Amino acid sequence: MLEEKVEARIEAEAKTEEMLDKMLEGVKKRSRTSKCGECGKKLRLLMEHKCKCCGLYCVRHKYPEDHSCTYDYRDDMQRKLTKENPKIIGEKLTKI
Ligand SMILES: [Zn+2]
Ligand SMILES: [Zn+2]
Repeated sequence: MLEEKVEARIEAEAKTEEMLDKMLEGVKKRSRTSKCGECGKKLRLLMEHKCKCCGLYCVRHKYPEDHSCTYDYRDDMQRKLTKENPKIIGEKLTKI
């Protein structure tokens, strides 16, 4: 909790990105540092975007088409389709 407060103060005081990064480095050493899985940009708490593939991405890479997303959206769609199609589920169940 305290760490977050310090971080917020530093963010308010820092005038440039570079300055902020340097200032945060000292504070953040023990806390987790999250980076964008695509461009490696350091992410601050409010800038994190978690994707369905469990990766963290910056604003520019938050969409699956903007990073090499490993989440199987086709599989997800198929599951949705099978939900709407009880017949297919029945077939699968009898096979298993
Ligand atoms: Zn990024
Ligand atoms: Zn993803």
